[in-house]
Amino acid sequence: MTHEHEKTLMVVGGGLAGSEAAWQAAQRGIRVRLYEMRPKVTTGAHVSPYLAELVCSNSLGSTLPDRAAGLLKAELRRLGSLLLQAAEESAVPAGSALAVDREIFAQKVTAALENHPNITIVREEVTDIPDQPAIIASGPLTSPRLSQALARLTGQEHLYFYDAIAPIVVADSIDMGVCFRASRYGRGEQTEGDYINCPFDQARYYAFVEALTHAERIELRAFERPVLESSAGVRAGKGKFFEGCLPIEVLARRGPDALAFGPLRPVGLTDPHTGRRPYAVVQLRQDNLAGTLYNMVGFQTNLKFSEQRRVFRMIPGLEQAEFARYGQMHRNTFLFSPALLHPTLQYRGRPGLFFAGQITGVEGYVGNIATGLLAGWNAARWLHGQPLIVLPRETMLGALCHYITHASEADFQPMKANYGILPPLPRRIRNKRARYAAYSQRALERLDAFLRERETS
Ligand SMILES: Cc1cc2nc3c(=O)[nH]c(=O)nc-3n(C[C@H](O)[C@H](O)[C@H](O)COP(=O)(O)OP(=O)(O)OC[C@H]3O[C@@H](n4cnc5c(N)ncnc54)[C@H](O)[C@@H]3O)c2cc1C
Repeated sequence: MTHEHEKTLMVVGGGLAGSEAAWQAAQRGIRVRLYEMRPKVTTGAHVSPYLAELVCSNSLGSTLPDRAAGLLKAELRRLGSLLLQAAEESAVPAGSALAVDREIFAQKVTAALENHPNITIVREEVTDIPDQPAIIASGPLTSPRLSQALARLTGQEHLYFYDAIAPIVVADSIDMGVCFRASRYGRGEQTEGDYINCPFDQARYYAFVEALTHAERIELRAFERPVLESSAGVRAGKGKFFEGCLPIEVLARRGPDALAFGPLRPVGLTDPHTGRRPYAVVQLRQDNLAGTLYNMVGFQTNLKFSEQRRVFRMIPGLEQAEFARYGQMHRNTFLFSPALLHPTLQYRGRPGLFFAGQITGVEGYVGNIATGLLAGWNAARWLHGQPLIVLPRETMLGALCHYITHASEADFQPMKANYGILPPLPRRIRNKRARYAAYSQRALERLDAFLRERETS
């Protein structure tokens, strides 16, 4: 039995997850010490001393009820999220998305936590795993010293360190006189094919590989070097390549045909302009709903932006390509949660220890807020001696927690809210929008029933 005077919780990291977690626990009568290392120690991406700083985009994604991000927000609203409320109060016009004035948002969260009678904010770096009840929410840019402590706790093989994103091309700038729409073997939802394919002949393919292997790479920032760079390129914590995320230029260096047998393989594709299978194919996948942006599949890269522009414009059909975003590699510290966490976000090996945010393998601002909420709630319940909450798998938050704690090792990659992780509906609905609306409706009904049950029990 836990005694009143012992009901103190340490929260490590005052980002999105840690701020929400601290609030949730404090609201349930727990005394919280929230440790944030900024501004004394920086992450390299954050620029302010505020809690809950948004490091990049100011958009928290869709608010529409039949979108995964919209559903997650609806769940957070029902669960009483502080950060969602602060976001809604600092919203700027952005159509059906929730975009915020990032400064007002962070100031609101900081003020709410500073003024909470149960919360003390400590501006210090935590360098070891606390030996008291705690939530670790130190984010993708966890300080190196704490990362080392985590590796000691979990075993080096259970901690990953990086993430990779591919460039995005503006649809209008793709030459459709050269490219063609098709899915491999004609699979896909649109009749004309879900992918735009850029077909290489042999000569142009080898010229491209030659340019790619000699292009200049970005000098990694000091805080990224130890984890993103190795003699052969980028590797995961366990010292083996994470094949799905290798930078394209590293893969190209394995041999002239490595790409043609890898992400650029042409199997299942026939170029309607020639009637033949190309030598190699770059596939572009729709990146936004409007269909104005296309993601270069498998093209995560660490090349300099100017080099990406020069080399990727050698791809047939992309000679005039405009890049809405260049590829990047950045540090992303996350646990192999399937081996380490329960769906309650409790650490398997230590009952008073919880994890929240990006470090659990959940991706995206709202997902990180959501795991903070659950970890704060459960840490408070643990301290009060109550059974922990496992949310229904039909809810988006329940599904995210289930996914990160049950995925297989081979497939485990950071996951953001999406309908694909929810259990199937009892009967198949062909229309995508109607299907997503049904998923959302079911999720909210289950969540409401779950909350009602808890009130009456
Ligand atoms: C460069 C970058 C850009 C991103 N852009 C987006 C985007 O546009 N949209 C999106 O949805 N997601 C984005 N993400 C992913 C993710 O949603 C955000 O990183 C999000 O902020 C993660 O929330 P978090 O609470 O887990 O971590 P954070 O919000 O980063 O919070 C972690 C906090 O812990 C502190 N900390 C770290 N180590 C210690 C320590 N040892 N002691 C004390 N404090 C410590 C940090 O200073 C930080 O304040 C991005 C990630 C990165 C790295």
